[in-house]
Amino acid sequence: MRRKNFLVPKKEKFVCLNCGQKVAGGGYVNHCPYCLWSKHVDQEVPGDRQSDCQGTMKPIGVIKKGERWRIVHQCQLCGKKTVTDTKKEDNFDLIIKLSITSQFTP
Ligand SMILES: [Zn+2]
Ligand SMILES: [Zn+2]
Repeated sequence: MRRKNFLVPKKEKFVCLNCGQKVAGGGYVNHCPYCLWSKHVDQEVPGDRQSDCQGTMKPIGVIKKGERWRIVHQCQLCGKKTVTDTKKEDNFDLIIKLSITSQFTP
């Protein structure tokens, strides 16, 4: 039995708005593993897909939490910032670069 208030991650395929790569989305995480850009689709909770903004979200920095990296995205349309977990297939070189050039301080 699934609880009704539990958000079931959908597998979504999308074409990256920044680099044009075809990406097989994996549920909550919906950013491009090649360039790390994302799309503004969530309103309040990651995975809710309630936002009608649909702006492109630029990776502006990374936060290291223990052994895990999280990407800070900023929407280029409305300015909203979100924090997203990285996936193992993400471009790690870019994550490291972001951690150096990052203007974001947690
Ligand atoms: Zn991309
Ligand atoms: Zn937005």
